[in-house]
Amino acid sequence: MQVTKHIQEAKGTLVSFEILPPLKGKTIQSIFEHLDPLMETKPSFINVTYHRSEHVYKKRPDGTFEKVEVRKRPGTVGICAAIMNRYRIDAIPHIICGGFTKQETEDALIDLAFLGIDNVLVLRGDAARNEVMFEPETGGNKYAIDLLKQVVHLNNGEYLEDDIRNGGRTNFCIGVAGYPEKHFESPNLEADLTYLKAKVDAGADYITTQMFFDNQKYFDFVKRCREAGIMVPVIPGLKPITSKKQLNVLPRTFHVDIPLELSNEISKSKTDAACEQVGAEWLLQQSKELKAAGVPVLHYYTLGKPELVLQVVRQLI
Ligand code: FAD
Repeated sequence: MQVTKHIQEAKGTLVSFEILPPLKGKTIQSIFEHLDPLMETKPSFINVTYHRSEHVYKKRPDGTFEKVEVRKRPGTVGICAAIMNRYRIDAIPHIICGGFTKQETEDALIDLAFLGIDNVLVLRGDAARNEVMFEPETGGNKYAIDLLKQVVHLNNGEYLEDDIRNGGRTNFCIGVAGYPEKHFESPNLEADLTYLKAKVDAGADYITTQMFFDNQKYFDFVKRCREAGIMVPVIPGLKPITSKKQLNVLPRTFHVDIPLELSNEISKSKTDAACEQVGAEWLLQQSKELKAAGVPVLHYYTLGKPELVLQVVRQLI
């Protein structure tokens, strides 16, 4: 079922999760072990991230180096199919511009449609490790909006080969990313919102936000969206802080602020367990306030900590 339909039919705030494919070499069992306990919260959908391949240099026996392409976390589409099969709930693959030609994207979208997947989260993706700025694949999409337009074309039965007449229509509900604290490459929030509005005008059905730790940032962002004429649901993305290391890693990786009160409490924690407790309590308070404000969905980035997220969600439902 489409995310927008889940939201329309909901009697209150829904719950959903985002998971990462496991590192190559692990089995699907690791995903089931992660998700099985979370099923008691009756999530409406599970997002599965997509990870592009990277170039690494491997040493040959003669001491010279060879450049090889490695995908550390393959399996997004297979995991979506496995989730739908095991739990009978919607799985949402993330699809990205980086590393794909438009032709490869079209083929991937056809696979997703054949699997009965009704939703996609459309993203540009970050620059590859060896790139300073994001570089699209030759013949690929440059911005998320370009990829989004390709999905919209397919929803209208328009394929890249223009000799396909009366092409079958896909029916993807399309999500896009939004950044309450601005996308890190954007000169300012106004410019970022202009591009976000363009994505919605081009057919995005809903927005999922980057994680944030201060709800006021989300409330302000939604207000700015509405003032800019962006009227689609804005799903808040939430993540627990679980270690002192994350006080530096999260701002560096995701370009988000951590409120002073939270960073102080985490810094004071004497053990890992104490850090997790502070993170869980903060997440619970964030979730309660967002739920009271009537957000459509609470979307949790579980990132290897399903037990902690479960502990929080149990207290909400
Ligand atoms: P875009 O919408 O293309 O925007 C990128 C930048 O370009 C922004 O600064 C924007 O303001 C600007 N811009 C947009 N359109 C134009 C234009 N026409 N002209 C000029 N500038 C423009 N990454 C992954 O690799 N895999 C994932 O699974 C993944 N999941 C994510 C899930 C969520 C909820 C979020 C918030 C992010 C996720 N990301 C993922 C990260 C995301 O790919 C990066 O943040 C990326 O840098 C930007 O993606 P975007 O879709 O927002 O890009």
